[in-house]
Amino acid sequence: KPMARISVKITPLHPDGTECTHAVRPSGKPRDADSGCTGRRNYAVVCSDCGPVGDPHGLRVLAEPAQSAHRDSHKTALTAATH
Ligand SMILES: [Zn+2]
Ligand SMILES: [Zn+2]
Repeated sequence: KPMARISVKITPLHPDGTECTHAVRPSGKPRDADSGCTGRRNYAVVCSDCGPVGDPHGLRVLAEPAQSAHRDSHKTALTAATH
């Protein structure tokens, strides 16, 4: 049975913890002032298989190592399972 493909994403969060799907400028400010976006406060690592991984990070660059590490942990598990 083929293993479902696992994706590990970095999800930006508003200050109240809801997911930010708004377009934002590189500065992190909302692109459209009328969008209702409150800005991106944290970045959460979310795995399609495990859900949220660890605590949210204050900067995207801080979330990236956790994203890579979690993705690698799945690769390792998959490799181990095939041997
Ligand atoms: Zn937003
Ligand atoms: Zn996972």
